[in-house]
Amino acid sequence: MPNASRSNEPAFNQPIAGLLRGVGPRMAEKLAARGLLTLQDLWLHLPLRYEDRTQLTAIRDLQPGVPAQVEGRVEAVERGFRFRPLLRVAIDDQSNATLVLRFFHFRAAQVAQLAVGVRVRCYGTPKPAQNGLEMVHPSYRVLGEEDGDALGDALDPVYPTVEGIGPASLRKLIAQALDRLPQDAALELLPPAMLDGLNLPSLRQAVISMHRPARDADLAALAAGTHPAQRRLALEELLAHNLSLRRQRISLQQHGAPRLDGKGALVAALVAALPFKLTSAQQRVFKQIRADVRQPLPMLRLVQGDVGSGKTVVAAMAAMLAVESGKQAALAAPTELLAEQHLANLRQWLEPLGIRVAWLAGKVTGKARAQVMAEVASGAAQVVVGTHALMQEAVVFHDLALAIVDEQHRFGVHQRLALRDKGASGDSVPHQLIMTATPIPRTLAMAAYADLDVSAIDELPPGRTPVQTIALGAERRPELVERIRAACTEGRQAYWVCTLIDESDEVVAQAAQGTYEALSAQLPEVRVGLVHGRMKPAEKQATMRAFKSGAIDLLVATTVIEVGVDVPNASLMIVENAERLGLAQLHQLRGRVGRGAAASNCVLLYQPPLSQMAKQRLATMRETNDGFLIAEKDLELRGPGELLGTRQTGLAAFRIADLARDADLLPRVRELADALLADSPEIADRIIARWVGGAARYASA
Ligand code: ADP
Ligand code: MG
Repeated sequence: MPNASRSNEPAFNQPIAGLLRGVGPRMAEKLAARGLLTLQDLWLHLPLRYEDRTQLTAIRDLQPGVPAQVEGRVEAVERGFRFRPLLRVAIDDQSNATLVLRFFHFRAAQVAQLAVGVRVRCYGTPKPAQNGLEMVHPSYRVLGEEDGDALGDALDPVYPTVEGIGPASLRKLIAQALDRLPQDAALELLPPAMLDGLNLPSLRQAVISMHRPARDADLAALAAGTHPAQRRLALEELLAHNLSLRRQRISLQQHGAPRLDGKGALVAALVAALPFKLTSAQQRVFKQIRADVRQPLPMLRLVQGDVGSGKTVVAAMAAMLAVESGKQAALAAPTELLAEQHLANLRQWLEPLGIRVAWLAGKVTGKARAQVMAEVASGAAQVVVGTHALMQEAVVFHDLALAIVDEQHRFGVHQRLALRDKGASGDSVPHQLIMTATPIPRTLAMAAYADLDVSAIDELPPGRTPVQTIALGAERRPELVERIRAACTEGRQAYWVCTLIDESDEVVAQAAQGTYEALSAQLPEVRVGLVHGRMKPAEKQATMRAFKSGAIDLLVATTVIEVGVDVPNASLMIVENAERLGLAQLHQLRGRVGRGAAASNCVLLYQPPLSQMAKQRLATMRETNDGFLIAEKDLELRGPGELLGTRQTGLAAFRIADLARDADLLPRVRELADALLADSPEIADRIIARWVGGAARYASA
């Protein structure tokens, strides 16, 4: 029964334990492990798909591969053992056709129950077998002679599994929870006026249609996620995420930040000494940063820029704003190799200006470490470059005014916050600059980065020769070996990337090892190296360094090389099984070449036959080098859950919304969020709690 009397919000948040029949402490624990704590959590635990038991299909009309419900009498039972126990039950119906039900796991009671002459109703997917069709492990029910033919009038939901709870129990629990679904007025958080004109059902109606779609529901729309019930839920979920991000931004803005408003003499000196002219995109983004840090409010800005777009120099210029004001800047990178590259660049640019650049990484130990820590604490170190080591508790800054984090998705959000907190004093926090080479499309950025300001360096420095990309069937591998031989004997360097998606690290490592051995044997005149994820970090870095210094010609690698390494002399890349990688990842990999003056090539090796999707991906890679275009295409082809850039934001964790599919809702979501934050912040909080709940802790203030 709908529980209309409990009209206040806590009804949503009543704990499942003690409220629903059959939920004792152990069951409650299992539900909690899946994040299911309250009634509301169960209402929003939505079906993955549906089974149609509202009708019966004649056995004669069954189609292989099409799930159906049939009813018949047991005509023969065969119990056997062929490699493993086996139970085969043949049933007949009025259509005079036979269907075999096949079980590999069964109990004695089942065998006893399925006697000849008994009436059964079963649901499953028929497939062709020796004599006609069979269903393997169908769900079934034995009907008594007096049982009528009543069929359900709603489709049966199939829920995402909860470990330790069987599907039938879970269904019953959710049904109990739905019986307590309040009436519209008590459930709806959005003011009705906000829903006007959207032509979407009420929340109550949407939840009911999702769990118990009528027999004539639009199954195609449900499967595609475009049913009005799904749109209604997606709208509210997107709104909740948007509100939660903006809430964090608002709370960040409660802090002050140091005003970095010097004249810019250091920046001018740095720019004057650069061996190149800044691109207009770099200049534009730097201006945005400068305008931010002049304010007494903390900057939180993301700079997106394709690989090679020149983010580092912009970071260095930003650091100069802090140094000129007598304060410190820190730059953190996710790997030692990347951090070392930054260090080399910054030292080269900044030391001639008399600026002290310190280095702090895990391998700086003992006395050297103590000395660096002392310089950081005294302020003698004006710019500090490092890895995770920078974020450790023991590191104390004198006066950190700007925290720069490169490729932050490789760090946890906590780590970025840890770095920020190092500069906190009184009510002031440092400015934060985040850099990423993983561009995400504008629509996504609007949702993913609602709490950040976003800049794009959308232009590459002049003079780069675009990488030429081709796709080749794996049978042409021998030609490639010759190509590598030619390139390496001319003094160029090459990458061979081994990928096996869905395989464990270990299997990929083995494959890379195998390729390494084969190529070493085929190319005796080439110095071949190997890196993979199962190697010790020190070993990995030694090999990377050898490649960088030119002591290795050909580097066989797994995707561990994806982020980082700048080896301008490497001008050939081969990616194996390219059909199995997503566009974002292919683009990141390819970014390792094309960094020097020599024309570079990228060969995407694939295993035919190619799926339609894989064909389009490879075509996109051949046609463009533009990371933003590739990101748009990726979104279009795959949806955002798989986009590299969304993992870092936690957007992949939506329950129902899909940013690609629901992108048209985003402008409306923004408007709704604006209105709620301005007029009804308490409603905003309740919406956040409903959808985001505890997860908000991890978001990115
Ligand atoms: P990313 O954005 O991938 O971090 P980097 O900052 O490493 O790119 O820059 C790539 C290379 O381009 C570096 O060698 C850098 O010195 C150089 N570079 C940066 N800006 C320019 C520019 N405006 N003109 C020419 N070269 C540039
Ligand atoms: Mg970089």
